[in-house]
Amino acid sequence: MLIDKHNREVNYLRLAVTDKCNLRCTYCMPENIKFVNNKELLSYEEMIRIVQILVNNGINKVRITGGEPFLRKNIMYLFESLAKIDGLDKIAITSNATHTLQYLPRLLELGIRAFNISIDSLDKDRFYAITRRDYYEDVLACIEEMMKHDLELSLNCVVMKDKNTEDIIPFVELTRHKKISVRFIEEMPFNGNGTGHSGIDWNYLKILDHIQSRYPDIHKLKDAKNSTSLNYQVSGFEGSFGVIPAFTRSFCGTCNRIRITALGKFKTCLYDDGVFNIKDFMRQGATDEQILEIVNQALAHKSKDGFEAENRRKFMVSESMSTIGG
Ligand code: SAM
Ligand code: SF4
Repeated sequence: MLIDKHNREVNYLRLAVTDKCNLRCTYCMPENIKFVNNKELLSYEEMIRIVQILVNNGINKVRITGGEPFLRKNIMYLFESLAKIDGLDKIAITSNATHTLQYLPRLLELGIRAFNISIDSLDKDRFYAITRRDYYEDVLACIEEMMKHDLELSLNCVVMKDKNTEDIIPFVELTRHKKISVRFIEEMPFNGNGTGHSGIDWNYLKILDHIQSRYPDIHKLKDAKNSTSLNYQVSGFEGSFGVIPAFTRSFCGTCNRIRITALGKFKTCLYDDGVFNIKDFMRQGATDEQILEIVNQALAHKSKDGFEAENRRKFMVSESMSTIGG
C-alpha cells in the first residue's frame, strides 16, 4: 500500500502518454508551443513497467491522459497491455475526442468504459475560438456515439470569463435526458505562456450560483470518496453536474493521486514542479525495488495541499497542462 506523509492512501495514478496535441486550447498552451522529441517521452514498455510496480503496491486506478492520448502512435498497444494487468481495477481516459471514436469499439471490448471528454463550448464558433482548431463536428460525433453506450461519461468544461459562460446552462440542460455528468472546472494557471494568472473571475461558487439561479431545484449528490468534484443534480434530470475547485483547491485533504508526466516527471501534487524523473531513473538501470523506494520517499515528502506544493516550487506555475495531463 502506498501511504503519503499525511496518512492518505494513494491508489490512483494519472499517466500522461504524450505532450502533443492537435488543439491549442487557449488556457492550456500557446499557439507556438514546442513539443519534445519523442525519445524524451516514456516508452510504452517503461509505462507498463511502472504501472505494474505501482499496481503491485496498491494503485488500482489509472487515468491515461496527455497531451492528446490518441495522437500517440500505436496507443492501443498500451491499452491492450494495461487491460491485462491483474489488480488494475479501472482504466480511465481523458481525451479531446477529436480522434477517439475509431478506437471506441475496441476500448469497450477491453472493458475500458470511463471517459472524460473535454469540450468547453457547445457552440461551434466559441469552440473554435477556444481550441483554435476546426474539430467541433468530430468531437460532437464522438460524444454522441459515446452517449449510446452504457459508459461513465463526463464532459469537462473549463469555465472562462467572456469566453464560454453562456455555455454553462446549455451544458446543464444536456443532463436533462442523458445519464452523463458535466463538470465545470475552474481555470488554472497552467497555460504554457509563462505568465500564470493571479486569480479567476468564475470560481466554483459563482458557477454554482449561476446554475442555481436558473434551476432553483438542485440537490447535492453524495460525492465519491476522493472526488475532486462537488456533484449535484437538477431534480428530475437523468444526469448530473459537478464543479471542480481546481484553482480554489478545497479538495486536497482527501488527495489519493500521483501523476507521471509524458517526460517521466513524478508528481505528488498537480501544483508541484516534479519530485524526480522516473524515466531517467529507470534508464540508469534502477531495479523495481529501487523504483518503489524512491516513490515511497517522494510520498513521504508530499505536500499537505496544492498551496504548499505551489509555495515549494522553484518557478511559478505557468507550464502547459499538456505536459502534466490535468
Ligand atoms: N487533451 C486531453 C483533453 O483535453 O481532454 C487530455 C489532456 S488535458 C491537459 C486534461 C484536462 O486538463 C482537460 O480536461 C483540460 O480541459 C484540462 N485543462 C488544461 N489546461 C487547464 C487549465 N489551465 N485549467 C484548468 N483545466 C485545464
Ligand atoms: Fe490539447 Fe487537451 Fe490542452 Fe486542449 S486541454 S490543448 S485538447 S491537451
